[in-house]
Amino acid sequence: MKKLSVPLIILSLAVVLSIGSAQAAGSTFVIIGTGGITGVYYPTGGAIAKMVNKKKKEYGVRATVESTEGSVFNINAIMAGDLEFGIVQSDRQFQAMNGIAEWQDKGPQTELRAVFSIHQEAVTLVTATDAGIKTIIDLKSKRVNIGNPGSGQRQNAIDALTAVGIDYEKDIKAKSFKASEAAGLLQDNRIDAFFYTVGYPSGSIKEVTSGIRKVVIADIVGVDSLLERFPYYTKASIPIKLYPGADNKQDVITFGVKATLCTSSKIPDDIVYAITKEVFDNLEEFKTLHPAFSTLTKESMLTGLSAPLHPGAMKYFKEVGLK
Ligand code: GLU
Repeated sequence: MKKLSVPLIILSLAVVLSIGSAQAAGSTFVIIGTGGITGVYYPTGGAIAKMVNKKKKEYGVRATVESTEGSVFNINAIMAGDLEFGIVQSDRQFQAMNGIAEWQDKGPQTELRAVFSIHQEAVTLVTATDAGIKTIIDLKSKRVNIGNPGSGQRQNAIDALTAVGIDYEKDIKAKSFKASEAAGLLQDNRIDAFFYTVGYPSGSIKEVTSGIRKVVIADIVGVDSLLERFPYYTKASIPIKLYPGADNKQDVITFGVKATLCTSSKIPDDIVYAITKEVFDNLEEFKTLHPAFSTLTKESMLTGLSAPLHPGAMKYFKEVGLK
């Protein structure tokens, strides 16, 4: 075989590289905003991106994932055009659509669009065993992380505390750390408990229940008034077998919401269509990508949405008879 001369090798390399970049230039890059890397949003974004990127030549869409501060941050970043997609708690989607909670001053976020919903999230109250907290009511006077302002869980924690008569500004020592820091802070005895609204199992709760400081995942009871008042809250139970390191041996009683994928009305239909189609057409494969997805059904993934469906998602749902 004839040896290639050095200039020829450089030339062929240049040709290969330029074809590669031409294809890249033909792709539309989209970013999916998630949450902390030890939550479930981050691997969920990764799973969606993985499905879509397999067909990047066909669809011309290339998705990447960004770790963020959580639901509230994601909605605001989608509205600002800094993210194309974001994973968002169903309650936060409702509040943004209706211009309440964090959106009271800005008003309804009318360009927010729903794509589909994903896993169940439980409001998870992790406590140090040595702090003697059996249920939410025992949090009085304790150091409690309620979550950073961009997170979904902060309002869930405030709602739950308020429902049981605890004023988070007076009756507890409320902290505003990110969920990704909470496990370490609890292990270092800098907090006694933290709230995290998260799918199960999650890396963060596995981490904190495997540490030296023993941990109880406490029940959140006495919050029925919340379920009556707010349409987006439902009863939830966390199977304790998912966290064998926890000190409690019973499933945890709590309440929860759903994780949903959101976008903006400004995102072209074909991009949203491609993402919806890839996840739904290959749902059985998608479900293997995280244990929190194990109970998903196509029908269940159309519930918990309060923003209008994006027309790209609607097109797919109509095609397959889901709408
Ligand atoms: N539900 C949390 C939030 O909205 C994020 C949970 C996760 O990252 O899995 O901030």
